[in-house]
Amino acid sequence: MGKANKWNGHCACGAIQYESTEEPSLSFICQCRQCQRATGSGHAALFVVSKNSTTVTGEMKFYDQKADSGNIVSRGFCPECGSPVMNKTTSYPDNLIFNVATLEDPDIFDPTTAVFSEFSQSWDYINPKLR
Ligand SMILES: [Zn+2]
Ligand SMILES: [Zn+2]
Repeated sequence: MGKANKWNGHCACGAIQYESTEEPSLSFICQCRQCQRATGSGHAALFVVSKNSTTVTGEMKFYDQKADSGNIVSRGFCPECGSPVMNKTTSYPDNLIFNVATLEDPDIFDPTTAVFSEFSQSWDYINPKLR
């Protein structure tokens, strides 16, 4: 589990910075097609923290996608370097969902589940214990 007590990070160019003072309520892998496109890879690695515990500096840009459930997912990225940094969803308005690789120390990530594995690509290996 976490060896750092702060979950902080930044985009590739550093224009967006964030810090959360609490442990994530959920850490997971998402293999949905939208996450594949947004990350340019087989899955997104994500952790969820509350808005209240989190400070974000810098201006992110967001684009909205409508999920099959009708919820809106807003994907936030750095307008300078294009790194995907953080997502918001209308189904959990008090939470922020960060992309793990933006962390200062991504090794503190400890996912407990993988979702939308039915959309996984054959070359995208996920630890079977997460499925
Ligand atoms: Zn950036
Ligand atoms: Zn996804």
